Amino acid sequence: MASEGHHVSILERNSIPGGKCSQIEEKGYRFDTGPSVLTMMQTLEEVFSYAPKPLESYLECIPMDPLCHYWDRELPSVADSTASFMNYANLQYTLDEVKRIAPYDVEGFKALVQLSSELYRKTNATFIRNPLARLKDLKGLPWLDLLDIKAFSTVSQVVDKHVQSPFLRKFFKRFTTYNGSSPFLAPGTLHVIPHVELSLGAWYIKGGLYQLVKALEKACLELGVNIYYDHDVQQIQTKKGRVVEVSTSSQSFEADILISNTDSIELPLRLASQSATKREKDAALEQQPSSSGFVLLLGTKKSWPQLGHHNIFFSNDYDNEFEEIFHKHQYPSDPTIYISNTSASDSEDAPKGGSNLFVLVNVPPLKEHTLHRQAERESESLEYANKLIHELESRGLKGLRASIEVQHIHTPVHYFNTYRSNRGAIYGTSSNSPWAAFLRPRNAHPRFKNLYRVGGSTHPGGGIPLVLQSALNATKLALDTL
Ligand SMILES: Cc1cc2nc3c(=O)[nH]c(=O)nc-3n(C[C@H](O)[C@H](O)[C@H](O)COP(=O)(O)OP(=O)(O)OC[C@H]3O[C@@H](n4cnc5c(N)ncnc54)[C@H](O)[C@@H]3O)c2cc1C
Repeated sequence: MASEGHHVSILERNSIPGGKCSQIEEKGYRFDTGPSVLTMMQTLEEVFSYAPKPLESYLECIPMDPLCHYWDRELPSVADSTASFMNYANLQYTLDEVKRIAPYDVEGFKALVQLSSELYRKTNATFIRNPLARLKDLKGLPWLDLLDIKAFSTVSQVVDKHVQSPFLRKFFKRFTTYNGSSPFLAPGTLHVIPHVELSLGAWYIKGGLYQLVKALEKACLELGVNIYYDHDVQQIQTKKGRVVEVSTSSQSFEADILISNTDSIELPLRLASQSATKREKDAALEQQPSSSGFVLLLGTKKSWPQLGHHNIFFSNDYDNEFEEIFHKHQYPSDPTIYISNTSASDSEDAPKGGSNLFVLVNVPPLKEHTLHRQAERESESLEYANKLIHELESRGLKGLRASIEVQHIHTPVHYFNTYRSNRGAIYGTSSNSPWAAFLRPRNAHPRFKNLYRVGGSTHPGGGIPLVLQSALNATKLALDTL
């Protein structure tokens, strides 16, 4: 908006930018506390095409290879201290790995990669990059293609049809968690996600993913945007179908256009509740949040030669893990553990000889969208953190506990209290039904003509690339009305 000459102000409740994409620095350890995998680079390039300078002058984006190291209890490690399976950026090398662990699945693996590319071709322009806001956005959609996007089978069914190896089944199903959904519930259309990483690639940003936030802040300031930190919006005033004013507890701002990046359910339930209809409030309460996260940030004096930058330690029973998260609403008893160890790529992220481990487990969102006191759950969190540390020691990170110098724990309560995301969800809304993608709030508000909604809880969904896409959609829609 600013690059088109509009006067833009940003109101942010926290004292730093970035929301869930944040960082912590302590005793020489640097941690990204949110996203660690950056995909769909073309969306980032498109966003920075509106900045005064090209993307490369703000950020050094480094392609990842290998993409991820995998451990699975059912697969032997190649040697004592290496992963059981390596996923390389070069598909041929990954196929060699498939041949080594499950030669009978090579063709099935190729077919799943191919299917994922086809789904991307069918959904990218028509759904992800399309705001689907007006009749003209729906015109010209390739309806025949859209009939064949696996919307009525689950990701799990699509995957099981092609590969037999229990490990490879988990490998493909895990991508559904990139938008906080369950592969056993989400439509097969979400099998589009592997294409994004396996075929288009994944990137790291020199200095950490938080540099993306710093770069966006810098570009905004260069364009003359006013950024107000510690400004918690409490109310949005509307009049005759338009937003007229936004207020914090001490200040009011008039607005010709409002783009809201808070969780979309906050608008009808809290910020504009006086003008929201019962239908809007009910719809907000029905929105199903994505999974949340249990995150352990560990600064360790030791380094872990077997770990790469991205690492996955799979649970045994993936079906049961998601049953516990989405049906039983409990922390998984045998969780799949993801570790991002950026010190493997960037030695400046930890003191010499040490590592900065970001450990993430998928957990259910909170039961209610209300403030919780962190202390209420502290002993439960410590117990779960100890369980994860114990598990990692038993899976090869010997001496982990004794090597910890810095430790932070983030739970769903943290994500709700700090960012006001729906029940502490980390990706916005889930896609756990064939209709979820179509029920996500659109970027243009249907009733208030100058109100636009962006972020993971809006169309097209969660994760950095889609959140940036929602911003591109909203900006385009807003500019079109002027
Ligand atoms: C642990 C974790 C791991 C993740 N891993 C990945 C990954 O590897 N790759 C990936 O692409 N994505 C990942 N994600 C998801 C990604 O971080 C999110 O999809 C994205 O950052 C969310 O952006 P957003 O703008 O929707 O929400 P937010 O980042 O929460 O931004 C909303 C902003 O609005 C502010 N706000 C809210 N209410 C108000 C108010 N009333 N007044 C003023 N300000 C307000 C908040 O403080 C916040 O800054 C991860 C997230 C987490 C937490």
